[in-house]
Amino acid sequence: MEDSFGREIEYMRVSVTDRCNLRCVYCMPKGVKTIPAREILTFEEIRDICSAAASLGIKYIRLTGGEPLVRLGVERLVEMIKAVDGIEGLTLTTNGVLLEEKLPGLVRAGLDGVNISLDTLDRELFRRITGFDRLDDVKKGIKAALYSGVKVKLNTVIMEENRNCLTRLAELAKDEPLDVRFIEMMPIGEGQRYGSISGEGVFSELEEKYGRLEPCFDRIGSGPARYYSIDGFEGRVGFINAVHGAFCGSCNRIRLTSAGFLKTCLCYEDGADLKAAVRRGDLDEVRCLMAEAVKNKPKAHHFALGPAEGEGGMNRIGG
Ligand code: SAM
Ligand code: SF4
Repeated sequence: MEDSFGREIEYMRVSVTDRCNLRCVYCMPKGVKTIPAREILTFEEIRDICSAAASLGIKYIRLTGGEPLVRLGVERLVEMIKAVDGIEGLTLTTNGVLLEEKLPGLVRAGLDGVNISLDTLDRELFRRITGFDRLDDVKKGIKAALYSGVKVKLNTVIMEENRNCLTRLAELAKDEPLDVRFIEMMPIGEGQRYGSISGEGVFSELEEKYGRLEPCFDRIGSGPARYYSIDGFEGRVGFINAVHGAFCGSCNRIRLTSAGFLKTCLCYEDGADLKAAVRRGDLDEVRCLMAEAVKNKPKAHHFALGPAEGEGGMNRIGG
């Protein structure tokens, strides 16, 4: 599916819930309101939208949230989406807290890869950022994921609070075949309260400490991260310079919120509400709405100038 700027749209992030078992300060402040359960799409509705999307050219799906692993039976959804014609890859982004126990079922269901969000290896700082003392569970989740053989990436949002302990996180890629990606904070929802620290400073710090970061030119994953290898490291480091880097020209993605809204850019409220059509079982209408929304996908975000439009926080959009 091509948009009006010639970009091939082949990747859809699907938020399966706006609920979460953590309360990261930049995403879900304490007391955050969640949407009523009846507003959230059922697995069958999500599968039907994925199927409509696949018929239009979407090849890769990533499940996200909120926290996708708090949605009961998410393994069944993995199996249902894997069975959709045209879907070539299905991955999941998680905070890792429930990953160790959920992973065997997810792998059996056909999950191809997992991204685990981790902003610090310091237990107290982890508790301060996420509101919970669950760092050990996340570490167990990472171990389990590595052991299971699925592709593993770590996502770290750069903030004032963790800025001086990012090399420790990068070092996880030294002995394990995983990629550690540093993401610039985007001014979305609660993220607006935090400045966006450029990934370039982290890049320089890593080069100072480990020597030249060699760019990897082979395609890794289906996203905007730029990857680099470091001499002596098994895995790679990556940078998603979402604010200071301009990668909109190669954007290949759309997002489905847990309430069934197809969002065509993180920065704007543009898109299409698919819920009524999918609930009526009118998949032709779902396809038309999706195609029209993609045609009107905005050219670029304006995060360098100001925050994202709308009220929706990252837990609703899915990152
Ligand atoms: N709960 C899961 C998790 O944390 O991985 C999935 C949903 S979470 C919204 C997806 C990703 O978005 C996480 O890596 C999180 O750190 C990131 N994120 C949340 N708010 C952000 C913001 N304002 N800017 C950049 N990344 C953000
Ligand atoms: Fe939950 Fe993920 Fe948001 Fe943290 S970033 S509050 S883990 S949805």
